[in-house]
Amino acid sequence: MAAARVTAVSGSPCLAGLTQIRLVADAAAKPGIGQPLPRRLAPSTSLDACQRSTVAALHSARCFGGHCITAFHDTPPASAASAADVQALLARHGADRHALVQILRELQALHGWLPRENLAKIASAVGLTLAHVEGVAGFYRFFHLRPVGAYRVLFSDNVTDRMLGSEALMADLCRRLGVAPGRVSADGLVSVDRTSCTGLGDQGPALLVNHHHVITRLDASRVALLADLIRHRVPMGEWPASWFEVQDNIRRADVLLAESPTPGAALAAALARDPKAMLAEVQRSNLRGRGGAGFATAMKWELCRRASGAEHVVVCNADEGEPGTFKDRVLLTRHADAVFNGMTIGAWVIGARRGLVYLRGEYRYLLEHLQAVLQRRREAKLLGASILGREGFDFDIEIHVGAGAYVCGEESSLIESLEGERGTPRIRPPFPVEHGYLGYPTIVNNVETFCAASRIALHGGDWWAGIGTKKSSGTKIHSVSGDCERPGIYEYPFGTSIARILEDCGAQDTQAVQVGGPSGVCLSAFEFGRRIAFEDVPTAGAFMVFDRSRDMFEVARGFAHFFAHESCGFCTPCRVGTALVVKRLDKLAAGQGSRHDIDVLFELDKLMHTATHCGLGASACNPLRDTILKFRPAYERHLRSLHFEPGFDLDAELSIGRRMTGRDDALAHLENRP
Ligand code: SF4
Repeated sequence: MAAARVTAVSGSPCLAGLTQIRLVADAAAKPGIGQPLPRRLAPSTSLDACQRSTVAALHSARCFGGHCITAFHDTPPASAASAADVQALLARHGADRHALVQILRELQALHGWLPRENLAKIASAVGLTLAHVEGVAGFYRFFHLRPVGAYRVLFSDNVTDRMLGSEALMADLCRRLGVAPGRVSADGLVSVDRTSCTGLGDQGPALLVNHHHVITRLDASRVALLADLIRHRVPMGEWPASWFEVQDNIRRADVLLAESPTPGAALAAALARDPKAMLAEVQRSNLRGRGGAGFATAMKWELCRRASGAEHVVVCNADEGEPGTFKDRVLLTRHADAVFNGMTIGAWVIGARRGLVYLRGEYRYLLEHLQAVLQRRREAKLLGASILGREGFDFDIEIHVGAGAYVCGEESSLIESLEGERGTPRIRPPFPVEHGYLGYPTIVNNVETFCAASRIALHGGDWWAGIGTKKSSGTKIHSVSGDCERPGIYEYPFGTSIARILEDCGAQDTQAVQVGGPSGVCLSAFEFGRRIAFEDVPTAGAFMVFDRSRDMFEVARGFAHFFAHESCGFCTPCRVGTALVVKRLDKLAAGQGSRHDIDVLFELDKLMHTATHCGLGASACNPLRDTILKFRPAYERHLRSLHFEPGFDLDAELSIGRRMTGRDDALAHLENRP
């Protein structure tokens, strides 16, 4: 592609969907450009092939300084779904407003994005306003209200992906395809962007294509071939099958991962007891939730069982969004029967007829496999009416796929999303056990918790309580990634030391371990004797290892960007606080910070810890607090000096103006002005 040597371009921000770009210098005189570009470009402007190349080159050179370029489609945007398609979709969901997120997801799968005219039809069919439907669609990062590339590539953007070179690989792909990150190519063929951790940290760098296909173990040769396949519009079915392989990487298995009982065995054992006796077994086991909070499972089930409601609901939280966590991915792949057994046992205890799995959008590729397991279970009378011949015990499970919102891992946000709304956390109380899905008493448990409940039904509560420690019974599965020889899945009894896990995964010269993801705790070397347990180091499952070559300031900065990106924006302390944290850290990274900025980070931590509406905001500064306390030199290295007082360099700021006007003569610099 001919590269345009345009010296300066200015643009006006996108207004009502229209971007106008004014070329300050003439691109037409440059080699390889057939026709001059028109002086003003608008979405309706028709361009020939050479002109498209020029625009693509400008685009990839990021000349437009952050202005919207999506309006540069010189091909018409993808057409809206046909009326018949929309009708079929609505019929499949009974025009139920509570299925709105699923309707939007399926509509987008048909056409790549969500045209307004389709949203209007859906709004009118489900009895909502168009503004409401657009408000829901706009909440989820995987929904697009404007056309995106026919190939939509999303690079997983966790700190461990970056450590494996994801940024350089993305830059390479963008260069090859002539597209800037976060933008759509001039011909509408492809868009490339980052997304939060896709749950493949043990085999990264990874990416998602069209929100459905995952590609793992990226390297330069895969990226080169990927660019060719996209450029030649090769259907994804013809891409190398090995790219889509997701390995389980189970490195250490204990009672959850090692056993594979027959699909209905645990359920039969549960049904051999009455619901109260099964609840007593869970109580004896001292099982605590594996999602992070560690609430006693039996207490949750009992509160829900006692709550009055026309029906009771079981929800499995499979929205494994904490960066660096991927153990639920493996449980859903290898042990889906155990998860569904656990849900059915929960239904037996609380008296539920309906079960829902909230599967994170990044795990969409698991949907067909999970549907097949559910179908097999229906055929084996493990789901449906009169389960295992037990008259009156009717229970079935549906799968709801999320659409890219980390906050939906919080149980009340997850319920909002299940109800077809924006995933805004609810005010609690009332808690879901009393007022959950559609107002019914609801238990929400993690994938691993249900898996454990299934084992407890089989072997008894005392058996489970005999594993681990007194306050933390059973085993815990860890997703190990980062600087180690054997990343993957490790299951240990609670009470296992950090040092033991580091030794097993082949970590060398370790400087720090982030346990429980960004909202967890960062441990330095003198703490490696501590143990994984609710009473010492609690965890939801992430175990990210950093050796001494890593800059812990950059690790914390990556996490800060993650929280700012994932803040749902509902409450001001989090919406503004996460942005202020990012601003301070970026300032430090640019060498313009002072010790005062580090102190301000502490203040922001205190404020957000106490004033935010949900746990996301409250824990957003955890990695900062830990790393400042334990790795302060990493921050101070980014100061020009410990006594540096930042000032304002007016001449440096004017460099943008100099670039735009093509001037760099002596008089264009302040110090030379008379
Ligand atoms: Fe949303 Fe953050 Fe407030 Fe939670 S704390 S409700 S994520 S803005």
